[in-house]
Amino acid sequence: MDEFILEIRGLTKSFPGVRALDDVSFSVRRGAVHALVGENGAGKSTLIKTLAGIYQAESGEILINGKPSAFKTPHEARLAGISVVHQEFKLSEPLSVTENVFLGHLALKNGFVDWKTMRKKTREMLDEIGISIDVDETVANLPVAKKQIVEICKAINLNAQILVMDEPSATLTVKEQEILFNIIRKLNAGGLTVIYISHRLEEIFDLTQSVTVLRDGRHVDTLPTKDMDRKKLISMMVGRELVNEYPKETVEFGDVILEVRGLCRKGVLENINARVRRGEILGIAGLVGSGRTETVRAILGIDKIDAGEICLNGEKQSFKTFRRAIKNGLGLVPEDRKSQGVVQILAVKENISMVNIAAIIRAGIVRPALENKYAEEYVRKLRIQTASLNTQALFLSGGNQQKVVIAKWLLRGSDVIFMDEPTRGVDVGAKAEIYALMNELVKQGKAIVMISSELPEIIGMSDRILVMHEGKITGELSRGEATQEKIMALCV
Ligand code: ADP
Ligand code: MG
Repeated sequence: MDEFILEIRGLTKSFPGVRALDDVSFSVRRGAVHALVGENGAGKSTLIKTLAGIYQAESGEILINGKPSAFKTPHEARLAGISVVHQEFKLSEPLSVTENVFLGHLALKNGFVDWKTMRKKTREMLDEIGISIDVDETVANLPVAKKQIVEICKAINLNAQILVMDEPSATLTVKEQEILFNIIRKLNAGGLTVIYISHRLEEIFDLTQSVTVLRDGRHVDTLPTKDMDRKKLISMMVGRELVNEYPKETVEFGDVILEVRGLCRKGVLENINARVRRGEILGIAGLVGSGRTETVRAILGIDKIDAGEICLNGEKQSFKTFRRAIKNGLGLVPEDRKSQGVVQILAVKENISMVNIAAIIRAGIVRPALENKYAEEYVRKLRIQTASLNTQALFLSGGNQQKVVIAKWLLRGSDVIFMDEPTRGVDVGAKAEIYALMNELVKQGKAIVMISSELPEIIGMSDRILVMHEGKITGELSRGEATQEKIMALCV
C-alpha cells in the first residue's frame, strides 16, 4: 500500500475574478489526522469541494491510493471512499436521524425499504461513537452538536476511507468539542484518515499529526505538526508576523456605566449581580447552558425577568423590550451571527444602518446618500472586505459579517456593547482586527461585555472575568489572577 492515501498535484480552480486554488500540491499520509488551515478565502473549502467531486478543477491531478481519480459527481467521490462533513450542514431537517444517515442509499430487503436494519445500524454507529441520540428523532429537534454527529454518521456510513471535516468545531462548545475529538480519535484509530479544517489553532496541535497551510489559493507548506508552533503557524497563514494575538490595551476605567442587582429568571438565572465600568471589558466565562447568553438577554429586555434591577449610569431602568435597551445605549453582537447578527439577504449598507434609521433620515425621508456615506465610512474604518456597499451580507466571510454587526452598533453610538462569542468561526487575521476594535471602543469610554467559550480569548482580552455555572455567578477573577485552570474550576 502507498504511504500516501491522497496526493494532490498542481490543482488549479478559478471562479470569475478569483483563482481559488493556484497550482496546489501536497500529500496526506495514510492513517493521519491532517489539518488544513488558512484564513478565510484561502481556498480550503474549494479544495475540499474539488476533492469531493462538487467542483471540477481546471488542471491538476488528485490521486487516491496512488490512482488518478477525477470525480465528476459527489456520488463518485463517495464511492471512492471520500466523505465530507461540509461547513454548511447538508442534513434534511424534517427527516429522522436514521433517514438522514441513509439518505440516498436506503437499505432494501425483498424490494422493501428495510427500516429495521437501518435503525439498528444507525444505533450501532452511535453506540460505537459513544453518543446517545434517539434514531427516530427529527433532526430539526436536535442541538447543533448532535446534528453534527448525525452528519458524521452519514459520512462514515458508506465505507469512508478519508473523512473530511470543514470547520466542524466552529459552533461547538468546549465540552462538545471534546466529544467530537474523541469521536475523531476513535475513528482514526479504526484506520480512517481524517482531513480537519479549523480556525482554532489549539485544536490543530491537539489533534493532528500534519498540517497544510493555504494562503490566497496557494500552498504555503505541509509539515509535521510537531515541527510547528503557534506563532509560526499564524505567520504562515496570514503571511506576516502577528506580534500579539490578544492585543489588549489597558484603559483607565471611568464610572460604573451598567449595574445589575439580584437579577432572577425562574429556572434560568439566580441572583445575578454584576457591574461594568466605562473603559472596561468584562468577560463572562462558563460552559454552554451556564446562563451566559440568558443573562445578557435578560439585561437587554429580550427575555423577561422575575426579579432584580438594572441601573444605567446610576439610574434605575427596566428594559421591557430590546428596542428600549437599544434606545438607551445598549447594543448586542449576538452569538448566532448568521440568523441574528446580520440579515443575510440585505446589503452591507442596509445592515449597517438597520438600527440607525434616525441617522439617515432628514425631514422624514430616508436619504440614500447619507446611508451610503455612513456605510462607506465604516467599511473603510473597519476594513470590511466586500465587493460593494450593495453586496448582500451572505456573500461576506464570517469575520467580515461580524465587522458589519459591530459597525451597526458603532454607528448607533451604543455605550455598552454585549458581544456573544464575537470571534467564533473568524480567522486569526480578522480576529486580531476585532480585538483592535474592542480596544478602540473602550478607549472611547464605552464598555464591553464579552461572552466567550475560548478561554485564551477571555483571559487575553478581559479586564475582569465573571464565571457562570447553572444560572449563577460562581466567581470573579481579575485580569491578573485569571488562569485557564481557575476558570475551569469555577465552570463546573
Ligand atoms: P476558505 O474555505 O479557505 O475560506 P473558499 O474556498 O471558500 O475559502 O474560497 C476561496 C476563494 O474563492 C474566495 O475568494 C471565495 O470568495 C471564492 N469562492 C469560493 N466559492 C466560490 C463560488 N462558488 N463562486 C465564486 N467565488 C467563490
Ligand atoms: Mg471554508
